[in-house]
Amino acid sequence: MPLKLKTDALLGFVLIHLIAALAFVPWFFSWTGVVLLVAGIYVFGVLGISVGYHRLLTHRAFVSPRWLERVFAVIGTCCMQFSPAFWVAVHRRHHHFADEEKDPHSPIKSFLWAHFGWLLVRPPDMKPAVMTDRYARDILRDPFYAWLERHKNWIKVAIACWVAYFAAGFLSALAMGEDVATAFQFGASLFIWGGVLRTVVVWHTTWSVNSVTHMWGYRNYSTPDDSRNNWIVGLLTGGEGWHNNHHADPSSARFGHRWWEFDPGWLTIRAMQRLGLASKVSLPSASLKAR
Ligand SMILES: [Zn+2]
Ligand SMILES: [Zn+2]
Repeated sequence: MPLKLKTDALLGFVLIHLIAALAFVPWFFSWTGVVLLVAGIYVFGVLGISVGYHRLLTHRAFVSPRWLERVFAVIGTCCMQFSPAFWVAVHRRHHHFADEEKDPHSPIKSFLWAHFGWLLVRPPDMKPAVMTDRYARDILRDPFYAWLERHKNWIKVAIACWVAYFAAGFLSALAMGEDVATAFQFGASLFIWGGVLRTVVVWHTTWSVNSVTHMWGYRNYSTPDDSRNNWIVGLLTGGEGWHNNHHADPSSARFGHRWWEFDPGWLTIRAMQRLGLASKVSLPSASLKAR
């Protein structure tokens, strides 16, 4: 049976890309917006997705106080890449069946399928209820994550995050004595650059881990999948690009295994460890054998 296109997802992706493209309109520009975009790639892409959703929630590569784990989960939720439970479930299934037929997003079908095509269809065995029951029961035991899952509350949180950018810009400009029109323009610039464009940039860097790093790069380890280490994706994602290393030892909090494999996500976790905010930190297994 051919898969039905999720028109709501397609329209949503197109619309959000078009809103992000407003960054090319000079009226929406502000340097504060640019700074928030760059800072947001670290805060949302690295802290939210790589450290929070991926290393902490999916692989339990370290342990953090419950309040901090939830903060990471909220930052991840603001990336509009699914709820914590469903994201975790999809990614655990990816590791379970990496580059096999049941991998949710393997480029064995095509690059575009792995990058975002898989997001536009929803086979019955990929429904959130089925997936989270199979792969993310531990996540849903936390009532906060269960709440995010219910009634798609996670999307409301992500939209509220965008609105917060506008409100912060609008109100801070008013507080500094600007008129309403100037304050509106400043709020809109933060909404576009810090909120929507940042979301789109982090989408594509995260999606590149599914597409690019299963196609191009070098391999330190002979894993049964096609995972690769790709330094461009590594730099854009805070260490996620060392994806062959990660498939060789998914439970390790450290993705860069060689000294020059720069891994900001790992540096963040190590700093948290020193501050007493991360414990039981898993390192690459001593039994890993390089090719
Ligand atoms: Zn992979
Ligand atoms: Zn993983």
